[in-house]
Amino acid sequence: MHSLFSEGTSDVSDSFGDPFAPNSNIHHYPTDRPQPPLSHLALPRGPHPPLRTVRHLRRTGGGVPPHRAGRPDRVRRPRPLAHRHCRKGRIVSQTVAVRHTWEAGHRLPHLDGKCQSLHGHSWSVEVTVAGPIAPSTGVLVEFAALKKHLRSWVDTHLDHGLMLGVDDPLLELLAAHGKTYPFGAPTHGAYTAGLLWPTVENVATLLARVMIDHLCSTGEEQRGVRLARVDVQETAVNHATWRGQ
Ligand SMILES: [Zn+2]
Repeated sequence: MHSLFSEGTSDVSDSFGDPFAPNSNIHHYPTDRPQPPLSHLALPRGPHPPLRTVRHLRRTGGGVPPHRAGRPDRVRRPRPLAHRHCRKGRIVSQTVAVRHTWEAGHRLPHLDGKCQSLHGHSWSVEVTVAGPIAPSTGVLVEFAALKKHLRSWVDTHLDHGLMLGVDDPLLELLAAHGKTYPFGAPTHGAYTAGLLWPTVENVATLLARVMIDHLCSTGEEQRGVRLARVDVQETAVNHATWRGQ
């Protein structure tokens, strides 16, 4: 039987009951140690009030919660890391990420501030996918195919071009003189539907749609691979993150 005041273990004593019962032989304090004053004990109400050390009560923050009054001797310990990621010994999910950069201009005439002017950025994107590891290959997804599609799409549609809103009065003029990507334009299908302006948030959503389409068309989604997040960096201090459900 453990002492109520024993140190060095989180398995606090299981000898709870009425500490003042006559002839009780399970709630003695060690006779070879001085007994603590009663002010050191907390006696929660209930038919079988548990006793806890002051150290333990501080840890639980405010005493014994009602839902644990019947099992005061249990101390919840963090589960080992491996158990949080495994179920029946099998890895549930991992993530991998690929990155790319591009140069592009944009403007946000619907907002107040300096972004109304046509200006450019060195953009960067990190695409993270999650899913099970295929036992036969040991990989979640083939990096080469993922990077190839991301880089190919970005380089074709966005790199060294202008990202403009479909309602931007400069769109028609600039489209006649160079590469533009019109956000919100029906001609660009579902990728930009509802994304009316080339904000960094909308760029992240656009690239998320592009990569989801890729995962679906290559069969990766059917294998359990899903898009976890897309981080787009516009400047050294501005970025946006799209997160999958
Ligand atoms: Zn900008």
